[in-house]
Amino acid sequence: MGKSVLVTGGAGYIGSHTAVELINSGYEVIIVDNLSNSDRGSIEGISKITGVEPKFIEADCCDKEAMRRVFEENEFDSVIHFAAYKAVGESVAEPAKYYRNNLLSFITILELMVEYGRRNVLFSSSATVYGDAEQLPVTELTPRKPATSPYGNTKQMAEDILRDMVAANDNIAGIALRYFNPIGAHPSALIGELPRGVPNNLVPYITQTAAGIRECLSIFGDDYDTPDGSCLRDYIDVVDLARAHVVAVDRLSNGRNKDRYEVFNVGTGRPVSVFELVRGFEEANSLKLNYRVAPRRAGDVKAVWADTTLANEELGWRAERDLSDTLRAAWEWEKHVRQ
Ligand code: NAD
Ligand code: UDP
Repeated sequence: MGKSVLVTGGAGYIGSHTAVELINSGYEVIIVDNLSNSDRGSIEGISKITGVEPKFIEADCCDKEAMRRVFEENEFDSVIHFAAYKAVGESVAEPAKYYRNNLLSFITILELMVEYGRRNVLFSSSATVYGDAEQLPVTELTPRKPATSPYGNTKQMAEDILRDMVAANDNIAGIALRYFNPIGAHPSALIGELPRGVPNNLVPYITQTAAGIRECLSIFGDDYDTPDGSCLRDYIDVVDLARAHVVAVDRLSNGRNKDRYEVFNVGTGRPVSVFELVRGFEEANSLKLNYRVAPRRAGDVKAVWADTTLANEELGWRAERDLSDTLRAAWEWEKHVRQ
């Protein structure tokens, strides 16, 4: 055992970038994914970037017998659980689908960890747990707000499930990473985000507009109480985010965690407005984007960004990539996908 990590959802956007950083840091990676929102191209991309082919098992994390075989047949003592559905709007329309997949997959993994004596688990949580926070930037101690979507609720519930499982089992240690807004792609343009249908998120919408797939970007609201009237977010480069997973797994593997359940914000600590992001994309890529101001989008919070002191001090991690490099990588990836 030792340096092997099971990565569920490892064919997806954040999982594939994390697999690359894990392999580059000397970990052996075993990926489980049911390809419900990804394809094998990302596994090829990981292999091309690292020169190492990760073991790939096509399986559903909710299928306990299939997952039992994964635990029986593979040695690892850490699990990173990315596998989940993530479309907020769809979760409102089909809540049972989200509660089933996002919670059952995690419970299945946690039960098998207890049964097979596997110790460390990282969970993909989200800044969505803070909702419309009263204090900014948010720290890990900022109270969570009641979730405004079933998706957000699955993140809060899964955090609680992890906390309770750790409390009940001396041999389990867990970290929940609360991601802010992950954007960008690997600088090689061999892996990146693959949204299906019309993108909900800002950066994929921007890159698809630049590529001519969407006619015009709608900026949802310019009348917020912010410096330029558009919303503020904390956009974190996906490679920086991936590195946070490596240091968090290192921490658990080396037993350096202070509590057996810990939570860390993973962001840059810098608020960026929608207008700034659009301008940044135009400048980084020397192009003009077709956009217009549209009404506010239901459910959007005015502003949220991270206080990253805890991750800086405890994980020794900080975001390093420059926003314009990130926006260049996002555009390179979009062009690669369209080739
Ligand atoms: P993604 O859809 O690209 O990756 C998720 C992967 O999990 C996909 O490859 C999908 O096929 C797989 N999957 C889903 N259900 C599965 C199941 N039952 N069994 C096996 N595989 C399954 O999404 P992502 O952006 O990489 O997100 C990864 C995690 O991070 C998710 O938990 C997501 O909720 C969380 N997160 C994402 C963001 C974001 O903006 N991208 C922000 C905060 C948190
Ligand atoms: N946004 C926008 N137009 C779009 C998509 C998003 O103006 O087509 C804005 C949205 O209102 C929010 C920010 O971009 O202020 C980030 O939205 P995203 O959906 O990417 O992430 P969220 O923070 O909502 O999870």
